Amino acid sequence: MHIRNPSTYHPPLMTTTVKPRILTGDTPTGRLHLGHWVGSVERRVALQDKYDCYFLLANMHAFTTRADKSADIRQDTIEIVKDWLAAGIDPNRSTIVLQTEIPAIAELTWFFAMLLSFNDVMGNPTLVHELETKGLADKYSFGFPMYTVGQCADILAFRPELIPVGEDQEPHIEMCRKAARKFNQLFCGIKSDAKDEDYPRLGGVFPIPRALIGRIGRLPGVGDGKQKMSKSLGNAIFLSDPEKEVQKKINKITTGRQSPTEPGDPNNILFKFVEAFITDSARVAELKDRYQRGDNIGDGHIKQELAVAINTLLEPMRARRAEFEKPGGDDLIIDIIRSGTARANVVAEETLHMAKQAMKLDFGKRSVRWT
Ligand code: ATP
Ligand code: MG
Repeated sequence: MHIRNPSTYHPPLMTTTVKPRILTGDTPTGRLHLGHWVGSVERRVALQDKYDCYFLLANMHAFTTRADKSADIRQDTIEIVKDWLAAGIDPNRSTIVLQTEIPAIAELTWFFAMLLSFNDVMGNPTLVHELETKGLADKYSFGFPMYTVGQCADILAFRPELIPVGEDQEPHIEMCRKAARKFNQLFCGIKSDAKDEDYPRLGGVFPIPRALIGRIGRLPGVGDGKQKMSKSLGNAIFLSDPEKEVQKKINKITTGRQSPTEPGDPNNILFKFVEAFITDSARVAELKDRYQRGDNIGDGHIKQELAVAINTLLEPMRARRAEFEKPGGDDLIIDIIRSGTARANVVAEETLHMAKQAMKLDFGKRSVRWT
C-alpha cells in the first residue's frame, strides 16, 4: 500500500457539490419551540437555496439523558421532522439525516475524542451549565459529556462551511473547530499558524466551519426568563401549540411590574419577546416608549398583542403540520428520513474515508446500504 507523507497529503476528489454546505440539527427530546425558530430554524429555511443543507436528528444524543424513554425519543424524532416541514424546510432541497443510521459519525466521534483534551470537554461552559440546570450532575451518564465530542463528528462528517445555531452552541462549535484544526495539523501536515479559511486549500480533510448565530441568539423561556427557552425545562412555547395555549403561556411571563402607569424596563423579558415576534418596528418603538414612560400600557395588553403576533407566525405552520397529522403521516415522515439518511451516508462515508486515508487507516473502501 502506498503510504502518503502527511506534508504532501492532498484529499481525494470530493463529492461535487456546487453549493457550500450547512449542517445543523436538533435533539429529539421534545418538539420544536420558538427558541429554535429564532435561534436557528428561521435561518435554515432561508438558506436552503443558497446552500447544500443537512439537518441532523440527534437521536443518539437524546439517549444520553433519557435512555429509559426510547419510545418517546422515536416519536419525538418524527415530530421534529413534522415541525421542520411545517416551518418550511423542504426535504427535496435539504437533506434530513438520522444520526443513529450514519455509522461514520460514531467512528469519527472516537477520532475526535482522542484529539480533544479532558479539559476541552469537561470545561465546556455550556456543558457545565447543563450539568447544573438539568440536575444531571449527580447522575449524568458517561455518554452525556460525550455528546459534545459527538457533535464535532456530526458537523465534520459533512465538511460544512456554516452551522446555524443559537448562542448556547458557541462553545460546542469552538470545540469542533479545535478538533478540525488538530486533525488537519496532525494528519494532513498543516502548520499550526495556518489561517482557518486556508485549511481546505492546504489539503486539510476538514474545513474549519463557522457558527451562524440566529436573529435572536438566546430566547428566554416563559416565566421569569432567567433560563433560555428549552424543551427540557418546561418553559417553552412549541411551534405546534394551539392558539389558546400560546396566549396561556405568554401570560406566564413575569416582569414584576405592578401597574400600567409604572415606568417599565423596555429591555425586560417581555420586550425580548416583543422584539423577537412583533414585526412592525414602528409599533415596537411605540410600545417601548410608552412602556418606559408608564403611559397607561399594561403588561396584559402587550401580552395580548404578542400572542396575536406569535399566532400569526405559527398559523401557516399549524396548517402545514396538519397534513402530516393525518393517518399515514408518520410513515411519510419515516420515508423522508430514510431517503435523506441514504443521501447523507454517501457524504459521511466519503468524509470518513478521507479521514482514514489521512490517518493511514485506509485498508479498503465500503459503503452503507439500506435494506
Ligand atoms: P434540550 O433542552 O434538550 O437541550 P433545547 O431546547 O436546548 O433542548 P436543542 O435541540 O439543544 O434544543 O437545540 C437545537 C438548536 O436550537 C440549537 O442550535 C440551539 O442553539 C437552538 N436553540 C435552542 N433553544 C434556543 C433558545 N432558547 N434561543 C435561541 N436558540 C435556541
Ligand atoms: Mg440544548
